[in-house]
Amino acid sequence: MSTPEHPSAESSPREEFASTGTGPADSDGDATRVVRAGLPEEEPYAPPLPGPVFAAHYHLPGDPAGAPYAYGRDSNPTWTGLERAIGELESPGDDRVETVAFASGMAAISAVLLSQSRPGSAVVLPDDGYNLLIPLRERLEGFGVEVRTAPTAADAQLERLDGASLLWIESPSNPGLDVCDIRRLAEAAHERGALVAVDNTLATPLGQRPLALGADFSVASGTKALTGHGDVLLGYVTCRDPELAASVRHWRKIVGAIPGPMEAWLAHRSLATLDVRTRRQAGNALAVAEALGARPEVTGVRHPGLPGDPAHEQAARQMHRFGCVVSFTLPDKDFAERFLAGLRLVDDATSFGGVRTTAERRGRWGGDAVPEGFIRMSVGVEDAADLVADVRRALDAAAG
Ligand SMILES: *Cc1c(COP(=O)(O)O)cnc(C)c1O
Repeated sequence: MSTPEHPSAESSPREEFASTGTGPADSDGDATRVVRAGLPEEEPYAPPLPGPVFAAHYHLPGDPAGAPYAYGRDSNPTWTGLERAIGELESPGDDRVETVAFASGMAAISAVLLSQSRPGSAVVLPDDGYNLLIPLRERLEGFGVEVRTAPTAADAQLERLDGASLLWIESPSNPGLDVCDIRRLAEAAHERGALVAVDNTLATPLGQRPLALGADFSVASGTKALTGHGDVLLGYVTCRDPELAASVRHWRKIVGAIPGPMEAWLAHRSLATLDVRTRRQAGNALAVAEALGARPEVTGVRHPGLPGDPAHEQAARQMHRFGCVVSFTLPDKDFAERFLAGLRLVDDATSFGGVRTTAERRGRWGGDAVPEGFIRMSVGVEDAADLVADVRRALDAAAG
């Protein structure tokens, strides 16, 4: 913490992987781009997506300077393919964009916050963001960093920016689903010399492009909707400034928060369905949110795609699709537990973004400032009519 992270000597391996005739064109739509994202140049009799490379070290004769692959904690060809793919989706047609993959979303978040903070510097966090931002805040303060917080809604973080060096945005926020004006906040932060990072986990790169909205870093957990099958933990940081990318990459090397090659490969493989999954999920989430909104025992239904949601107008200005999460409140804890137990098609599980619908009572964790009957539901890719029927049936059963 006491020494600034300087861009490291190791080179980015992305040049070595650079393609090609198979890469997407700027004019291609999302569904077209995701099936080709990050693929290497076509080669006769080679697989379209090369399998995972398991290597702790690589053959390395002579001078290691500029070697794309030397040691397994620094770089791996399977990461390179995934990083290239995510970069293409976060910032299409952008040659300068660089992505650094991490072992988890928290590894990626910690890498940005810890590599870009110094003793005496000030960081602005949301006070309604991912619950591990709270222990991370304590850690930052222990290192002598001033941490300020404000809610995501109504761009309240604007008021805390004077003298800050880093603004952390989470929009939509998890689990409250509030949305802020990313462009407005980024401009205000830049005027004051602060860097801007956006947690893009909930939206995915197809739902929102933080770099185009002015952010310096787009950071996300790939554990959720990006990979979408509930079988991988992963995180990433995408940015455009090569020095920022190098400092985040160097942080990964120092702390060793690296993704396994198998996880990176599974993630890359699952990107091909990112368009169909997120499109279907957003449609299903809206149908479920509308059905919930019609029930008198359900209050506070939130989904950014819901016309009339407090966040809808701003979400519609900066998001391309509205995500899979619906949150709402049932009368009390027992009602909520009976509702969850009565669902047939909805697994009781944490996390979100998977192909199977899940839900949980957030109050069971004790970390979020939410009512006891607050439910976060992650809507999957099932048939909307089946999900809506299941939710209605479980509400009836819970009312008893
Ligand atoms: C899940 C989540 C994280 C943490 O990601 P992991 O992959 O679980 O470490 C960070 N931010 C948001 C918004 C999340 O939902």
